[in-house]
Amino acid sequence: MDSLIIDNLNVKIDGKPILKNFCLNIPKGEVHALMGPNGTGKSTLAKVLAGHEEYEILGGSVLLDGIEILGKEPDEISHAGLFLAFQYPLEIPGVSIANFIRAAIESRLCEGESLDAPAYYSRLYEKMDLLQMDRKFTSRSLNEGFSGGEKKRAEILQMAMIEPAYCILDETDSGLDIDALKIVSNGVNIMRSNDRGSLIITHYQRLLDYIVPDVVHVMWDGQIVRSGDKSLALELEKKGYDWVKEELAVTCA
Ligand code: ADP
Ligand code: MG
Repeated sequence: MDSLIIDNLNVKIDGKPILKNFCLNIPKGEVHALMGPNGTGKSTLAKVLAGHEEYEILGGSVLLDGIEILGKEPDEISHAGLFLAFQYPLEIPGVSIANFIRAAIESRLCEGESLDAPAYYSRLYEKMDLLQMDRKFTSRSLNEGFSGGEKKRAEILQMAMIEPAYCILDETDSGLDIDALKIVSNGVNIMRSNDRGSLIITHYQRLLDYIVPDVVHVMWDGQIVRSGDKSLALELEKKGYDWVKEELAVTCA
């Protein structure tokens, strides 16, 4: 029950199948890494889980603690407890980070509840300090003119404030220098908890030096083709994705 269970998910875009009988189970308390070459469908998976409307769902199910979220609206999925940190975060001119996150938290309150502004800001500043974000960011428009690293920090800040039950991070390491990578990883590690499951999507092993996963999956052509412990990521780093391809060719021959 306390798990994000993706079962036989089949997804198409532009008439082309992308996810093919995709299955994955992330129990609370675990951090899973999903690795794979570009174009395998990693971001497609992330976006479909978050309720992106562009993709055609052919079949399957996604149970979040026993509740079906496939086909629900993004805000319903978010309220059910799933958070997606985007590979390419959108710029939202005119909406400050502080107001954006505040609106996200307020939308989760029950009727009659209200947000205590001083408590909200003190929590926001505490998380910003953790992510080494300058206070002036709170009044800046979300992601507008941010560097790659700043955008990723803003995503982690949202995640830290919302405290979702399940986190999906899509290539959070891309565009980060080593210092920013350490800061972002630290933010993710602090959120590790028995009440939370995470899926870290990454092309490179580098991020996994800082966020050590419990399970590593390799995705190829819309499916998970191998799963193992963290040593699988190291093996991939050493041998490259061609190694998986060659192994697959042998298995399928
Ligand atoms: P990854 O994140 O593993 O690099 P993606 O999920 O981004 O892979 O892409 C998987 C495949 O789906 C690619 O062939 C890509 O071109 C295609 N694709 C993804 N999104 C779209 C889209 N919006 N329109 C058309 N094709 C898409
Ligand atoms: Mg991607």
